[in-house]
Amino acid sequence: MEPTAPAEARLIYCPGCSVRIQSDSIICRSCGCVVPLEGLGRRLKNFFPQLLATAARRTNLQPADLVLWFLVCVPLLIAPPILAIGIATFQTRRAAPGQRLASFPVALLCVALFNIVLSVMFWIATGQKLWALLAILQNSIADYLNGLKPSGSRPPVV
Ligand SMILES: [Zn+2]
Repeated sequence: MEPTAPAEARLIYCPGCSVRIQSDSIICRSCGCVVPLEGLGRRLKNFFPQLLATAARRTNLQPADLVLWFLVCVPLLIAPPILAIGIATFQTRRAAPGQRLASFPVALLCVALFNIVLSVMFWIATGQKLWALLAILQNSIADYLNGLKPSGSRPPVV
């Protein structure tokens, strides 16, 4: 008979300081962290690096290149593809002078430029529609305000 065995089984490691604590502890007596929040924070902190590592393994790309490809493919925003081109250009400067051109990711540049052109076209089209909508709204408000005026102030109809 070991009365301490069930109690031992309910011990976990504190996510903050790795001291053994009761599994239902809310606050660690050793480091004072809130155990459920600390555990969640650790998992969230590890989520994106793990996701990146898994994606890098599956696509045979370096994690840094994967981030560039992600930036290049962000739709409707012009800044991320431009940022990706900037980072790629900066990275090629680290290569030997003779190999700079060869090491530049041309495919990345093509996709980025294509995405930028698409985004610009989208915003030009959307911008025109927005201006048309604003004009309609402005006319409606003007008509409404004219209708509110007392009839005496209206210009006489000839
Ligand atoms: Zn602790």
